[in-house]
This record gives sequence, structure tokens and C-alpha cells, in this order.
Amino acid sequence: MISSPLRFFVSTLLSFFMVGSAMAQPVKEPAGTPAEWSKPYAPFRIAGNLYYVGSYDLASYLITTPKGNILINTGLASSYSQIQQNMESLGFRFQDIKILLTTQAHYDHMGAMAAIQKSTGARLMADAREADVLASGGKTDYALGKLGTTYQPVHPDRLLYDGDTISLGGMHLVMLHHPGHTKGSCSYLFTVRDEKRSYRVLIANLPTIVTDQPLNSIKSYPEAVSDFAYTLQAMKKISFDLWLASHASQFHLHDKHHPGDTYTPYAFKDQKGYETALSELQKAYQEKREQDKKN
Ligand SMILES: [Zn+2]
Repeated sequence: MISSPLRFFVSTLLSFFMVGSAMAQPVKEPAGTPAEWSKPYAPFRIAGNLYYVGSYDLASYLITTPKGNILINTGLASSYSQIQQNMESLGFRFQDIKILLTTQAHYDHMGAMAAIQKSTGARLMADAREADVLASGGKTDYALGKLGTTYQPVHPDRLLYDGDTISLGGMHLVMLHHPGHTKGSCSYLFTVRDEKRSYRVLIANLPTIVTDQPLNSIKSYPEAVSDFAYTLQAMKKISFDLWLASHASQFHLHDKHHPGDTYTPYAFKDQKGYETALSELQKAYQEKREQDKKN
């Protein structure tokens, strides 16, 4: 039993916190974000029922099914109308988005998420280890949290764990937990089909290092060293036909495709480019670890 003065105190305290969290922090995207990232970009069919609907550098992917569509990543807040227009110009309805996913809880992929979730009623599914940062609008991120609330907070309708499957209208996406860049960064592996054949597609969240702190002394992320090491190893073992990433620049979209090009799924094959990207990341990780020892 809680005595009534204490109960009063507890309920006052609770309402204080509830009011506190309801008074949302002002959302502010970092001023240093390159303008080029969010430039409009012509949407196109990548392979089968998979389409690029993002901006010049902030990749957003649409997977269409007879039961509605899946949208992965939402760019900045301003990307909302771009994504909507891109989808509509490809002949898809914005309201048919049924599932929302992200590759990481940073503002440049989460900007329009809350608004799209609200206007479409789609179910947001996210890596379980990202839930806390998502609920804070990025403020509790171990690296970018210092920038404050950088996107509208969201609450996933379903939490995902490594190897979980996301299914809709005959599509099955496997979520691969690839922590490091954020605690709940993840990639997606799935098969799409066109008139001729099927393609195993990897949307990779590459483990780039964005913190100035030594990896082995981040108080809010004691697993940073082992998470990066795990992800670098795990990513080497994935087999796929085509690969894509969270940023267009990471998979050299603009070398592989130009607006108006004819449909060419194999433009995104590039096994060698994937291996090069991973070995560069491995090197960056090792250099960071060397630096950490000197500090
Ligand atoms: Zn990021």
C-alpha cells in the first residue's frame, strides 16, 4: 500500500514527467548538413518491385506488394514531399505505405518518419536497440546526441531482433542487426523479382565511425568496440546479387545510374565495390583503435 501523502507525491511527480515529455523539445536538424544530400532526385526502378524514391544522397527505398508497400528510410524532414512526389510519379499511392523501416536512428534517415507514420498510419518497425534513441528524437544517441533533438520522436509498433522477418504481400525481408554506427543500425536482405528472374538484394548499413570519443570509453555505449568488430565480420559473410546502402554515395549510385537510364538491375551488382567498402571500413576501425590507445 502507498500512503496517501506519498501517493500524492508520486502522482505529482508522474504528471510532472508526463508534462515534461509532452512538451516536446524543439526539433532542429544540424546546420552543417550538406545541401547536396537532400537535393531532389528522379526516382527509378532498381530491380523488380524495388524502387529508389530518396533524394540525391539520402536513399529511401520503396518495395511494392499487392498488399501495400514498404518504405525504408525517410531522409530529412523536408524529404516528406519529395518522397511523396517520387512515389506518385512512379504511379504508387503514398497512402499504400503499410510498413516503415529505417537502417539507423540518425536524423538524415529519420527526418520525415514521424510525419509519414502519422499521415499513412503505417506500422513502424525498428531494431529493438534503437527504440530508446528513436523515442528521444536522436537526443540519446551516443555520438550525435550532443546535437540535441534532431528529428520528431517516434515509437515503433514492432521491435525487431537480428534475423527477424518482416512480411507483407508475399515479400519477406530479413533484418540483420549491424550495430556500431548507431546501437541499433541494421541492414535488410530480401528477394525481388522481375519478368525475367529474381535478385537477392542487400540494403547495407555500413559501420562508419562518427564519434570523436575513444571507442572503448563511451559511457553510454560500452559495447562499441565489440559491436563494430562484430558488424565488420558479419557483413563480410553476406551473399547477394545486388547491394545498396543508406547513402547513395556509399554505393556510388551516381556512377552506376543516371536519371533517365533504362532499367538495369545489374548496375547494382558490384561485389568488388562492396568488398572495397568493407575493407576501407575495417581499416578506419583499426586506425581508430590505434588512436584510442595513444589517448
Ligand atoms: Zn548516420
